[in-house]
Amino acid sequence: MKPILSVQNLNISFQNQQIENKVVHDVSFEIMPNQIVGVVGESGSGKSVTSMAMMGLLPKNISKVTGRILYKDVSLTDLEPNELRKIVGKEISMIFQEPMTSLNPSLTCGEQVAEVLDLHTDLSNKEIDQAVMELFEKVKLPRAKKMMTQYPHELSGGQKQRVMIAMAIACKPKLLIADEPTTALDVRVQDEIVLLLKELQQETGMSILFITHDLALIAEIAQRVIVMQKGKIVEQGTVENVFLHPQEIYTKALINAKP
Ligand code: ADP
Ligand code: MG
Repeated sequence: MKPILSVQNLNISFQNQQIENKVVHDVSFEIMPNQIVGVVGESGSGKSVTSMAMMGLLPKNISKVTGRILYKDVSLTDLEPNELRKIVGKEISMIFQEPMTSLNPSLTCGEQVAEVLDLHTDLSNKEIDQAVMELFEKVKLPRAKKMMTQYPHELSGGQKQRVMIAMAIACKPKLLIADEPTTALDVRVQDEIVLLLKELQQETGMSILFITHDLALIAEIAQRVIVMQKGKIVEQGTVENVFLHPQEIYTKALINAKP
């Protein structure tokens, strides 16, 4: 089987007043179809920057990205922005830690999800409304119909993240990148969101790159784990292998630090 995503020798640096600051060093990994891969590492280890590069989201004027990012057989780093947009947001989508900053406060939840479908599909308005309702049910938002007309500020943190997930899966992506999707939430709600992502993955067969600083969540959801430290991958393998037989001091420390 071929990987859905292959990152090869990725290097990322930022330029600030002629000074180059390298933040990701020679990172390589693969994500197979139908697989959940966890990425763990402390704050500042380069997890978000790596995932932003995969989506072509790093500001071009201040960042330099080298290496290859292959989605199936397409080299994402070689695509023109308009070509990239046909894949990103549709076949690869992303959810973030802070749903409030990603949701538009002046649009209802229904309108925001409808916008995604309007942009990427040729469904009629009526079909879009129907699809949005079904998505809200799929992400288990209570009173899906009422949600259609509610604004983000009327929702709890967990509900907002469910709306973000609805937007992210609206176009049936093959890969979902979830960057600390539960970090801003209460522990109970965290578990609910992790369970939802797990169920959605099983239902759809999409792959998920699940980024977190919490190793326990990775044990719950992922089959493989990538451990990052200071912009480098220090260890990667099956969750079982890495948890039972960690090779690196850093990984051992992370496992031992688990509450
Ligand atoms: P993580 O997600 O693992 O917490 P990040 O990927 O956000 O870490 O950050 C990795 C490094 O890149 C950090 O040192 C951070 O300060 C730096 N960085 C992130 N974004 C920018 C930016 N826009 N300009 C300059 N440096 C950045
Ligand atoms: Mg981050």
